[in-house]
Amino acid sequence: MSVCPACNSLAAINKNCPLCGCPMYDAGAIQDFYDNYSAFLEQEIYEDGYRSYSHDFCVHLFACPNCHFDINIKFRRLNKSLLF
Ligand SMILES: [Zn+2]
Ligand SMILES: [Zn+2]
Repeated sequence: MSVCPACNSLAAINKNCPLCGCPMYDAGAIQDFYDNYSAFLEQEIYEDGYRSYSHDFCVHLFACPNCHFDINIKFRRLNKSLLF
């Protein structure tokens, strides 16, 4: 079982907006936005590198509260047995 450090609050991520310099916030893991589709499309989208999502990486959407610029940041999933 591997877990994403960002999803599990194991890592504090400080990312400043490249456009305006404001601190960006973690809007969530992108696969959460696509749960409605995943029941049908499942692996194909994800495995095909859809926005880089994979079993090895969890991709988060970071957004700027000031100018609404957003970026995707990949987090390598960590082996839970090593952490807990
Ligand atoms: Zn995550
Ligand atoms: Zn910004």
